[in-house]
Amino acid sequence: MRLIIFGPPGAGKGTQAVKISQEYKVLHISTGDILRASVKEGTELGKLAKTYMDKGELVPDNVIIGIIKERITTQDSQKGFLLDGFPRTIEQAEALEKMLNKEGQRIDSVISIEVDDEEIVKRITGRRVCEKCGSMYHIIFDPPTNMGYCNKCGGGLYQRDDDSEDVIRTRLQVYRRQTEPLKKFYKKVGILKRVDGLGTIDDVFERIEKILKGVA
Ligand code: ADP
Ligand code: ADP
Ligand code: ZN
Repeated sequence: MRLIIFGPPGAGKGTQAVKISQEYKVLHISTGDILRASVKEGTELGKLAKTYMDKGELVPDNVIIGIIKERITTQDSQKGFLLDGFPRTIEQAEALEKMLNKEGQRIDSVISIEVDDEEIVKRITGRRVCEKCGSMYHIIFDPPTNMGYCNKCGGGLYQRDDDSEDVIRTRLQVYRRQTEPLKKFYKKVGILKRVDGLGTIDDVFERIEKILKGVA
């Protein structure tokens, strides 16, 4: 099964991706997580990416496409994968198609999580991330047992630099302008599946499971 989880920033892509990859045993590939890991390590990629991420802008297509090319050709990805945060532009989507075509593969479904702007701002401003394992929490909607610490590994929770209200506004504009047009792209191909993203994390996951029952 090869899937894309799609939606605006803060829609719940990462949260659902973790659940889907556990249940369906597919490799979770998050470009945001990969970039944040590079920033933390202080690599050349990380230094470059940070200048875009801090402003809420997209990292250049050629950089991101290179990262994905490397990941989806590994042995782990042969059983299937779930792309989270990629593609974000038409150019990225076209590059992905080319890569998969070469291997005689294709994307089975694009799961689009639909959430309004008001909810997005609430979700992003309350988001906290584990500095050790990357697990996501929300101070109100999905709080950890011990405030400030990860349930899974005990690591400290932090707020992402780009989760401030002014950067969120830029990210939403970037989403509308550069990423949302991809819905039309995948609708034409006939693989776009819209999911209502409002409700609890489990409610949304149940809706996704229903869709995935129909997918090979
Ligand atoms: P969110 O989960 O809030 O949607 P991500 O963690 O996916 O955010 O991405 C954080 C930032 O990393 C983006 O604002 C962008 O700067 C960069 N980024 C992640 N994925 C991509 C991509 N596919 N193309 C370009 N930039 C990306
Ligand atoms: P994305 O990867 O799309 O940026 P995340 O999965 O990181 O989104 O979710 C953004 C924030 O919203 C996180 O703090 C997460 O705990 C919270 N969240 C995710 N799904 C829901 C939901 N269904 N209801 C309320 N909060 C949610
Ligand atoms: Zn943790």
